[in-house]
Amino acid sequence: MLAPDSGPVPTLQVALPVPLPRLFDYLPPQGEGPTMAVGCRLKVPFGNRELIGVVAGHGQAEDSQGLRQALAWCDSAPLLQGELWQSLQWLARYTHAPLGEVLSTALPGPLRHGEPLPDTHHWGWQLTPEGHAQREKLRAGSRPRQLAELLADAVVDEDVLSARMQDWRVAARSLGKRDLAERIALSVAPQHAQPLPGPTLNAEQAEAVAAITAAESFQAFLLDGVTGSGKTEVYLQAIIHCLAQGRQALVLVPEIGLTPQTLARFRGRLGIAVHALHSGLTDNERARVWAAASRGEARVIVGTRSAVFIPLPQPGLLIVDEEHDGSYKQQDGIRYHARDFALVRAKAQGVPVLLGSATPSLETLHNAYAGRYAHLRLKQRAGDARPPRVRILDVRKRPLRDGLSADVLAGIGEHLQRGQQVLVFKNRRGYAPVLLCHDCGWTAPCNRCDAPMTVHGGGRRLQCHHCGARQPAPLACPACGSLALQPQGIGTERLEEHLVSAFADFPVVRIDRGTTARRDALEQQLAKLGNEPGILVGTQILAKGHDLPKLTLVVVVGIDEGLFSADFRASEKLAQQLIQVAGRAGRARDPGEVWLQTHHPGHPLLETLVNGGYHPFAQAELNQREAAGFPPFAHLALMRAEAQQLEHANAFLLAARALLGEQNVVEAYGPMPAPMPRRAGYQRTQLLLSAAQRPPLHGVLAQLVPQLYALPEARKVRWSLDVDPTDL
Ligand code: ADP
Ligand code: ZN
Ligand code: ZN
Repeated sequence: MLAPDSGPVPTLQVALPVPLPRLFDYLPPQGEGPTMAVGCRLKVPFGNRELIGVVAGHGQAEDSQGLRQALAWCDSAPLLQGELWQSLQWLARYTHAPLGEVLSTALPGPLRHGEPLPDTHHWGWQLTPEGHAQREKLRAGSRPRQLAELLADAVVDEDVLSARMQDWRVAARSLGKRDLAERIALSVAPQHAQPLPGPTLNAEQAEAVAAITAAESFQAFLLDGVTGSGKTEVYLQAIIHCLAQGRQALVLVPEIGLTPQTLARFRGRLGIAVHALHSGLTDNERARVWAAASRGEARVIVGTRSAVFIPLPQPGLLIVDEEHDGSYKQQDGIRYHARDFALVRAKAQGVPVLLGSATPSLETLHNAYAGRYAHLRLKQRAGDARPPRVRILDVRKRPLRDGLSADVLAGIGEHLQRGQQVLVFKNRRGYAPVLLCHDCGWTAPCNRCDAPMTVHGGGRRLQCHHCGARQPAPLACPACGSLALQPQGIGTERLEEHLVSAFADFPVVRIDRGTTARRDALEQQLAKLGNEPGILVGTQILAKGHDLPKLTLVVVVGIDEGLFSADFRASEKLAQQLIQVAGRAGRARDPGEVWLQTHHPGHPLLETLVNGGYHPFAQAELNQREAAGFPPFAHLALMRAEAQQLEHANAFLLAARALLGEQNVVEAYGPMPAPMPRRAGYQRTQLLLSAAQRPPLHGVLAQLVPQLYALPEARKVRWSLDVDPTDL
């Protein structure tokens, strides 16, 4: 019972999922002391709500006045502990975000809501002694008899039963009711099969595997190998070594890289269950994988960005495939970078971390060149495949039909006639980027964003790719009444339309976010083509996934927009995209070709890429970044404010800037309009902070950020802080 005013009382410091930069003190639940509580979840009253929080520490109050009592524990042992708990606290400090919000980003839904760690047992069925005795007496041919026969020799896993017998559950219930069979927990996921053998590693691969498996503590490796050079084989061998040491492995892959084929390859070669974590799972499935990992039952976890938050009580190896991929950075809420957080965790765990890419990010290359990461190179394609030939097609003064030159159309025709496949890449979905009035120059705008609407449906529909707004295309120009409205520019739909009519005898499959809403849709679309000659047209989704051995020509259309972007990372992104999509050509015996159609054949980026490849490009780009004082030679934090009224957004950032005061550590730029100054009806402004060194930047932010919550100007805006922004 509470005894008010009875002197000092112990309190629990609780991290709650609310946007306030602090922990909250509570009295322990009735009748219970605060022992062993750190990392346990707790239900507490908050205002007139109930929230689930995590205990982050113990304190003491003079007396119990003004303190509320927690309602109940959700855990009897800490849910968060050890390295993961330490790393998450580090992440809260690094992102300058409330710990409670970091924890709710990191935990799967059911755990966030206070539910117990789910059951991860595999279940099986076996006959009782009575069942064995009665088996032969069950009516021949009946379903219970069939099931009893299946169970005659051993316990059978429920998954196996599902594969062998339809409706076995009905029969099982019938046997169970008569005490002839029972359901039992199989503690560990069953061993799948004998691992499939892999190819003999070439010398470069073998050297890479040897270096990784020799690491006995933290060490970062960059596995820098062209597409098809056998990076995945290196991952597999390193994982096999890790498993043999009795340790767990975590593999992060980009959102579009986690295909059923990838999983099947890992499962087949490792011979054990591989736990997948991706956006296609339900919340309960995610919680089960989390629980299986925390109990040490899941030995290999392959997942997308948020899988970096999985507990690993017996860590052995972390792998980040395609480490340059933009999807590793979360762009809202807690803006973490999964690759960077994987590095932090590996360091805390004392295990090696392997970053793989054909086009490493400049940050990672910089670290490798500086000797902080061991730089492993795979310079050749594995097996028989040869590198594709790259050709720049100057289309100045050439007539283009729906964005395609006559040379390109002829080339596509030749490859198709030879029975091969062609990929046409255009990084713009929809029919056309703009609807234009030919008479007065009006373009269809989004009413809520500073951006034109994209034309879809062959010109009939308009859609905003920034806020999702949709409407039918107007029949006449709203400005001048003219009927001369024309889709302007080229999107994947328009290319598809043209290719279908130009190559009527061949299948044309379009792949972009419009056609592949579902996770397995990409594979199904590709399967439509099989090994027959045909055309794939699509966005960068096509840069990954299924091997296409018949693909011998990649045509890149309309890269010119990307050559002149204001974003200092635009060249890096463009180069990565070009190299990745080019890597799709000629993965088998047939030599591949890549054609770049451009109006700027002499552009230095294209010249360097074509003549030298990615590394000379990256080196030149790093030199420019150094001269300009951009990352990785400077460290950035971006503060953004959004409000219905521009002056509110600006007022907040001006107040934030004033709080910076006089100091010579951080340079502040702004407030200035965000790249898209208005989105979904909100005015958006930003304040960019830049510092030469990381620690002083964080020192300034640690002072500044808590004060932002208290600013009166903060009440009228939505604001955010992005440390190491990738999207300026
Ligand atoms: P990456 O991950 O670098 O794109 P993969 O590991 O997927 O490359 O390898 C590309 C292809 O080459 C795969 O079909 C793989 O089975 C094959 N391969 C990889 N290493 C070898 C090797 N040492 N010998 C023969 N084939 C190999
Ligand atoms: Zn008009
Ligand atoms: Zn919009």
